[in-house]
Amino acid sequence: VMRESYASEKDSGFKTVKPELGRVVVIGGAGKLGMLFVRMFRLSGYQVDILEQGDWDKADALFANAGLVVVSVPINLTETIIAKLGRLPKDCVLADITSIKNKPLQAMLTAHEGPVVGLHPMFGPDVGNLAKQVIVCCDGRGKAQYQWLLEQMQIWGARIYDVDAKQHDEAMTLIQALRHFTTFVYGAHLAEENPDIQQLLDLSSPIYRLELAMVGRLFAQDPTLYADIILASDNNIAMIRRYAERFMQAADMLERKDKAGFINSFETVSDWFGDYSTQFLQESRNLLLQANDNRQF
Ligand code: NAD
Repeated sequence: VMRESYASEKDSGFKTVKPELGRVVVIGGAGKLGMLFVRMFRLSGYQVDILEQGDWDKADALFANAGLVVVSVPINLTETIIAKLGRLPKDCVLADITSIKNKPLQAMLTAHEGPVVGLHPMFGPDVGNLAKQVIVCCDGRGKAQYQWLLEQMQIWGARIYDVDAKQHDEAMTLIQALRHFTTFVYGAHLAEENPDIQQLLDLSSPIYRLELAMVGRLFAQDPTLYADIILASDNNIAMIRRYAERFMQAADMLERKDKAGFINSFETVSDWFGDYSTQFLQESRNLLLQANDNRQF
């Protein structure tokens, strides 16, 4: 119900939380995620300018009237582009929506003396609307001056989650880097083994169908985004190494036909999940039922 009400509100426009704001400038606003934010700001009554690759000669003129500048460029260019922003009006809010947070936030704090906030939308450009979508928020400075922006995004339906930038990056090692890596490797493995996908689908249980969809959808997207997310930190690579070692240890255990060892470590993991494992069983049951109902091919 909530999702539908937001969908209809999106067509008619959203309340403008800060009507007196100057212009919004979205750097990289013709890109996939930038475009979504451009649309949301326009639907909320703001005047939005897009600053793209060839537009830097106009940058000073655009910034002169800006009340908010949002950086939405490829991860590996983010710090460089922030460093060359030049002068922004003192009260202008500087924000970014990069998938990593600490380095861009530090760069923004260096580049601008006014209010700064790091945002990480925990969704991709393919969401229909922002209802219940999480946007991670890392304070830079001047929270009172960018509070309106958080309220605006809440009006879009988003849930704001405050976290320290370094803690965010550590959590993303698991939530993004390792997740995308294992998906990538499973896809690479499938491509090498070369099974008949249609037959896998025909024979699959709902959970395997869902897994195949989760893996397959990665490969319909932009490889540089995922490369940059994984390569963003050496901690990500170290985490991937530890995972790979555990993979091999488990494979060795099974090669030794060590069934007791398998059951033993299964129980250790089960204890670690504690009450969450039954909670997850419950939650995923509904997901799997829905996935099965929504089968498209
Ligand atoms: P994208 O490649 O679609 O968009 C980037 C845009 O930046 C492009 O339009 C490009 O032309 C522009 N650009 C490149 N160099 C520029 C320059 N020098 N000056 C101005 N503009 C320049 O990438 P995207 O997926 O939209 O990602 C943008 C940001 O959003 C990244 O920081 C990414 O981490 C973040 N993000 C993306 C997703 C996602 O799923 N796509 C999710 C969360 C966060």
